[in-house]
Amino acid sequence: MIEIPVLIVGGGPSGLMLANELGPRQVPCLLVDAKPSTAFNPQANATQARTMEHFRRLGFAHEVRERGLPADHPTDIAYFTRFSTHELARLSLPTAAQAVRNIRNMGGSWSAAELPHRCSQKYVEPVMRRHAEKWPGNDIRYGWKMTRFVDQGTHIDAWIQPSDGSQPETQVRARHLVGADGPRSAIRHQLGVGYEGATGMRRGYMGGQMFAVYFRSPEVYQRIPHSRAWMYVTVNAERRALLASVNGVDEFAFHAAIHEGEPADDWTAQDARRIVQQTMGCPLDMEVLSVQTWTAGHALVAQSLSRGRVFLIGDAAHLFTPTGGLGYNTGVEDAVNLGWKLAAVHHGQAPQALLDTYALERKPMAQRNTGYSRQFADSVGLYPVTPVLEENSPAGIQARGEAGDYFNAHVRLEFNIPGVTFGGRYDGSPIIVPDGSAPPPDHPNTYQPTACPGGRPPHAWLDDGRSLFDTFGTGWTLLDLGADGAAAQGFVQAAARQAIDLQWVKQSDASLKALYEAPLVLIRPDHIVAWRGHDSGQAQAVLAQVLGHALAGT
Ligand SMILES: Cc1cc2nc3c(=O)[nH]c(=O)nc-3n(C[C@H](O)[C@H](O)[C@H](O)COP(=O)(O)OP(=O)(O)OC[C@H]3O[C@@H](n4cnc5c(N)ncnc54)[C@H](O)[C@@H]3O)c2cc1C
Repeated sequence: MIEIPVLIVGGGPSGLMLANELGPRQVPCLLVDAKPSTAFNPQANATQARTMEHFRRLGFAHEVRERGLPADHPTDIAYFTRFSTHELARLSLPTAAQAVRNIRNMGGSWSAAELPHRCSQKYVEPVMRRHAEKWPGNDIRYGWKMTRFVDQGTHIDAWIQPSDGSQPETQVRARHLVGADGPRSAIRHQLGVGYEGATGMRRGYMGGQMFAVYFRSPEVYQRIPHSRAWMYVTVNAERRALLASVNGVDEFAFHAAIHEGEPADDWTAQDARRIVQQTMGCPLDMEVLSVQTWTAGHALVAQSLSRGRVFLIGDAAHLFTPTGGLGYNTGVEDAVNLGWKLAAVHHGQAPQALLDTYALERKPMAQRNTGYSRQFADSVGLYPVTPVLEENSPAGIQARGEAGDYFNAHVRLEFNIPGVTFGGRYDGSPIIVPDGSAPPPDHPNTYQPTACPGGRPPHAWLDDGRSLFDTFGTGWTLLDLGADGAAAQGFVQAAARQAIDLQWVKQSDASLKALYEAPLVLIRPDHIVAWRGHDSGQAQAVLAQVLGHALAGT
C-alpha cells in the first residue's frame, strides 16, 4: 500500500499545477493520469498573464514563453470572411520576444510581471510535468488510472492501476484526494456533486457542437494573403470557425461550428479537409493529425468544490466555453489556491478548517470567469451573418465595413482582458482581513492596481531590474515599505512562534508605499493581499485569521 499525503487524479494543467505547488512546500503527492503522457492535441491556446506570473513564481515562465510560436511570430487575432479573402478586423499583439521587453514599460491595467503567452496547452504541459517531476516527494505516473476511492472520514482509500491492466490494483491511502480529472470527472460524480449554471446555449459560433481538427500544412501561410496572425476567425454565413497557429510553421488547431443535422461525430479526415477548405476559401494540401467533436455553450460550475477530504479543481469543478481562454487558466488558479492551504494543514500550521476556504474562495471565481466567457461567446457568436457579407457589391462592402467595426470592438473585449486576469478577488473570505477600503469595480478590460486586501498585490519593477514579485517568499511575505523595524518585528516574531514561513521584504522606495497605501502588507503564498496596516499590534490575531484558526476556534 502506498501512503501519501495528497493523491491527485488527473495530469492535465490543473493537476500538474497542484503538484508544482506541493513539491516546493515538501508535501509529497502521487499524481495519476490514465493517458500515456501529456496532451497530444493542442487544446487551450492562451496562457493568461496571471498564470504566467504564477509560472514565474515557480521559476518556469521563461521556459513556457519559449514554447509554441517562434519568438518573432505575431500573436494578432484577426477576423475574415474566409481566411483567403476579406480581412474584417484585427487586434495587433506583441510577439513573445516583444512581450518580455514591453512589459517592463507598461503601466495601468497592464502593470504586471508578465504578459499573456499564446501557446498551445500541448507545449505548456510538458514544462509543467518536468518541473513537477523534479521534486523528490512527487510521484508522477502517466499511464495509471484511479479505479475507485472511499472517503473514510479520517483518510482516503483509493485504488490505482496501470491503464493497460498490466499490474493488479494498488491501494493508496491519502489524507486528501484532489479530483483534477477533467469535465467528465468520475470523482465529482461519485461525490454526487452536479454542475449548476447555464448549458446548451445555441449560437452561430461557440454555442453548440464544434468540429476540431489538428492538422499539418506548410501551405497555410502562403494561402492567406494578409499579415500573419496567431488566431484567424471566419465570419460568413456558411461556416464560422477559428484557426490557431500551433508552432508558427505548419501545425494548426482548427475549430468549426457544426450545423443542425450534420453528422460530425462520423466525420473523417476527408471531411476535415472539406471543412477546412470551406473556411479557407481555397484548396489546401494538409495532413490531418486528429479530429474530434466537442460542445461549446457551457457556463457551468460544480455545486460544491469540495466534500469531506476530496477537492475538485479545473474542469472537474467548472466547464467553460473557451471564448476568452479562461478554462485552463481558472484551473491553474484553483491549484494555486489549494496548494498552499494543503501545505499549511500538512505542516500543522493551520487547522483543517483552512481547507474549507478553498471552495468558499474559488466557487465565486469560477462563477465570475464562466460568466465572462459566456459574455464573450454571446458577443462573437450571436453576431448576425448573412450571405451579403461576401458579396462583391456596394451592399457587401457596407456589410464588411459594419462587421469590421463590430469585430474590432469585440476583439478588444475578448482578448484585452487585464481586468479578468488580474482583477479576481476574494472579498468576503473569512481569511482576508478587510481594512474598510472599497475594492475597485470588476471590469473585464480594465484592472486597477490596489493593495485593498483580497486581491493581487500591485506590481512594480525595482531599480535593480527585478519584479517586486520576485522578492516575495515561497510562503508568506511581509512587505515592509518603510515601517520602523519594530512594527514589522511583531509579525516576524509571531510567525516564528507558529513556525510560519514568513519572508520579511524591505523596500524603501516611497512610490511603493504610495502604491500599497500602507507601510506593512501581508501577502499570502498565492500572492493575494491578506492584510495591510501600520503596525504589528494585531499580528497574532491577523495570523490566526489568515490561517483559518479563527474559523476552527483554535
Ligand atoms: C477548443 C478548446 C480551446 C480551449 N482554449 C482554451 C484557452 O485558450 N484557454 C484556456 O484557459 N482554456 C481553454 N480550453 C479549456 C482547457 O483545454 C481545459 O480547461 C483544460 O484542459 C482543463 O484542464 P484540467 O487539468 O482541469 O483537465 P484536463 O486537461 O481535462 O485533464 C484531466 C485529466 O484527468 C485524467 N483522468 C480522468 N479520469 C481519470 C482517472 N480515473 N484516473 C486517472 N486519470 C484520469 C485524464 O486522462 C486527463 O488527462 C479550451 C478547450 C477547448 C476544447
